[in-house]
Amino acid sequence: PSVPSVEALQHADVADLLPTPGAESDKYRRGVVGIVAGSARYPGAAVLAVAGALRGGAGAVRYVGPGGDAVIARFPETLVSDGSPAKAGRVQAWVVGPGLGDGPGVDEVLGSDVPVLVDADGLRCLDPDAVRGRPAATLLTPHAGEAAALLGVPREKVEAERLASARELASRYGATVLLKGSTTLVADADGPVRVNPTGTSWLATAGSGDVLSGLAGSLLAAGLGARDAGSVAAYLHGLAGRHASQGAPATAYGVAGAVPGVWRDVAASG
Ligand code: AMP
Ligand code: MG
Repeated sequence: PSVPSVEALQHADVADLLPTPGAESDKYRRGVVGIVAGSARYPGAAVLAVAGALRGGAGAVRYVGPGGDAVIARFPETLVSDGSPAKAGRVQAWVVGPGLGDGPGVDEVLGSDVPVLVDADGLRCLDPDAVRGRPAATLLTPHAGEAAALLGVPREKVEAERLASARELASRYGATVLLKGSTTLVADADGPVRVNPTGTSWLATAGSGDVLSGLAGSLLAAGLGARDAGSVAAYLHGLAGRHASQGAPATAYGVAGAVPGVWRDVAASG
């Protein structure tokens, strides 16, 4: 197979894609994101995914899972519940998987008719048939290890053939694939693969992927397609990582906090 062609979003492209609430907007039109994340073992992942979603401009965030108390302690604006996603009320996009462990919810959100982002534990044993026929977009956000497990190949192979691996996953699942790493790629089954030009190796820190998931989920809920939502999220996340670190260690929570500042800078340049 031939090597896919690549393209990179520029500052001005991202500025054009950033959702801005119009004068007549309300929280529902801005987009409600549902987050299914966290577990007794990984309670922080829920907080970080919610942080990413709130900083990503969601009109409201619904959190479904066992970590509601921790989420509310940091973000009292979150709507929390501990039942099934279908009973959580209307959402415009779901994020499922960060810190989920073997918790429930993946099949249920994949059965919904709204865009779904699947990350982390949600990607374990993900059935292509559950994704392929969905009536709305699906965005998968693996790192190299998760992509390797989905493809059934060694991690080294994904690292050596990142473009082809992202493409292969996209075509197997009929989904958009955001392959994380030192250079983040966004691939569909055809068309050029988007290469993210921002980022810093200081983002290689626990929880930073959870923030990215929430951020991309917000953009899906605002109505961006999976390809644009993934690439705009990766772009902002990379800039936020640089801003939060400035050449020194950053925390994932700090990266989420840096998103509004970089959003402002990007919007002003458009
Ligand atoms: P995760 O593997 O889910 O924790 O996500 C890690 C996040 O950090 C992703 O957004 C990666 O793209 C980013 N990241 C990890 N390592 C690097 C690196 N060496 N350079 C730039 N970004 C990185
Ligand atoms: Mg992760």
